[in-house]
Amino acid sequence: MSAEASPPLQPTDLSKQDAAPIVGKKSMDAIMSLCKRRGFIYQASEIYGGINGFWDYGPLGTLMKRNLREAWWQDMIMHPAWGRKGPNGEAVRCVPVETCIIQHPKVWEASGHIGGFNDPMVDDKETKQRFRADHLQGLFIDIGKGVKVTSNGFTVPLRTVVASTAGEAVAQLMEQPKLIKPLELTTATPSESPNVMDVTVRDSSGTTHFGRVFAIPVDALQSNPLEIPSPFTGKAGHLTEPKQFNLMFFSYTGAVFNEDAKVYLRPETAQGIFVQFKNVVDTTRVKMPFGIGNTGRSFRNEVTPRNFTFRSREFEQAELEFFCHPDESQAWYAFWREFRMDWWRSIGLASDNLILREHDKDELSHYSTGTCDVEYRFPFTAPGYGELEGVAHRGNFDLAQHQKHSGIKLDYFDQERGELLPNGSKKGERYLPHCIEPAAGLDRGVLALICEAYTVDAARPSPEFMKFHPRIAPIKAAVFPLVNKDGMPEKAEALHGELSRKFGRQGLIENDAKQSIGKRYARMDEAGCPYCFTIDGQTATDQTVTVRDRDTGTQERMAIDKVAAFIGEKLGE
Ligand code: ATP
Repeated sequence: MSAEASPPLQPTDLSKQDAAPIVGKKSMDAIMSLCKRRGFIYQASEIYGGINGFWDYGPLGTLMKRNLREAWWQDMIMHPAWGRKGPNGEAVRCVPVETCIIQHPKVWEASGHIGGFNDPMVDDKETKQRFRADHLQGLFIDIGKGVKVTSNGFTVPLRTVVASTAGEAVAQLMEQPKLIKPLELTTATPSESPNVMDVTVRDSSGTTHFGRVFAIPVDALQSNPLEIPSPFTGKAGHLTEPKQFNLMFFSYTGAVFNEDAKVYLRPETAQGIFVQFKNVVDTTRVKMPFGIGNTGRSFRNEVTPRNFTFRSREFEQAELEFFCHPDESQAWYAFWREFRMDWWRSIGLASDNLILREHDKDELSHYSTGTCDVEYRFPFTAPGYGELEGVAHRGNFDLAQHQKHSGIKLDYFDQERGELLPNGSKKGERYLPHCIEPAAGLDRGVLALICEAYTVDAARPSPEFMKFHPRIAPIKAAVFPLVNKDGMPEKAEALHGELSRKFGRQGLIENDAKQSIGKRYARMDEAGCPYCFTIDGQTATDQTVTVRDRDTGTQERMAIDKVAAFIGEKLGE
């Protein structure tokens, strides 16, 4: 879990003149409603009113998430980095493990999650709502009553919201203008840090004021909780001081519920890899450098789950720990940073909504010499970004910790290193490997792909449609008989059967004969199906069908026996 650094405590700079206008963006409400309507994502336990921080996937969402997991599995484990050569000049080697959600509690002591996986929490005494102290962002502007400098130099914000970055806070203020009424937020510009946004605000007389949005420093909340307005009511005087709160869910094993029986649900899949490192080395033929991948559910009792599935309490991760010699670790760090960006681009996040952000020195964990985040500009973070994946150089921290806590040696004997012996072999070298960790979240991945694919075009039969990459699309193709007679349904059934046999492992092939052809296209567009094949009157005479491209709406004729090869090519086979 990366620390979210507070921006430096400094006087608000109100002199910036180069603010950019707030531009229109995709509506999260519209995206969430399409997700529900078309069966991508549902609220968990919805018939009981839902449960905060938990989401279920419907039929289309399940297929889509499976495609994302499968793409990760193929491109990280089975055919790592698409066969690219690593900095050592050799093909990258990776193997999988599948480890338990519940591990020995000492795993979490060694990893630091029991001692340190704590977030400082603040309560609103009036509404009884709770939020993470390091997730409180303030809007500071120069209109007299909004800006107040107290004796310790802390500036009191005009308004606060719960958000992990300044961008997310600005997005909330834009979506809920009543929060700062009668003022109006007119422009927002990312500043030198992702945690700071410069803004302009117009008052009711039309006068413009300059200001900033940035995180309230936790120590300011510690010393002045009563001065800071509540993010829920806007009123000061109701916030408590921050208190520590552990994010791990716990349970008990066995019949007796006491401290000795206490176990934790894993907050990340990575530790399962480190604790099986020795077994993998001893029982398989892996040689340094190599990676071990693990995917599965993780659990964090997030204090303020929000932004649809972005911050959930149960979510799925796909993590790789890539082990290498310390001397090669920086080169591998550069390699994985680049590949992970290329990978996200390859499955559909090709726009400038995707960025790689290198952490500042003060954001790094004490053991890391480099960490970066692959970030996506979600509608609820825009104009800022939210983390999709972290790529961290973790040094030998994790193996060293587990070696210390378990008493088991986890070093590696590398026969291909050390001085050359007279017999022509190498003397070998024993070392504790360093590790590069690309840690992706599959739910945030699905959400980013949905947000990126969501397109509005009032001129089309379905004014909202999803431009999924064919590899990610839950429905790969649809077959339509133009009318329900003249042998067309039979031909459609035969083509549907052939395509389902060939591509059924990758996704659905639909066969739809209901309603007008326009309505059928519209249904498929909304579900993000890239290609629709229609059997019409001409098919019987020349054995051709029409293929319609979802994104352009254009149609061309193609031989019916070429359809499978066409889809295969689009799926990258
Ligand atoms: P954040 O700072 O947003 O809490 P993190 O830095 O703690 O995230 P990591 O511990 O690096 O996240 O986990 C790796 C990935 O797991 C993240 O990039 C994200 O995609 C996913 N992830 C982490 N926490 C959550 C969550 N609460 N809900 C959904 N996905 C999550």
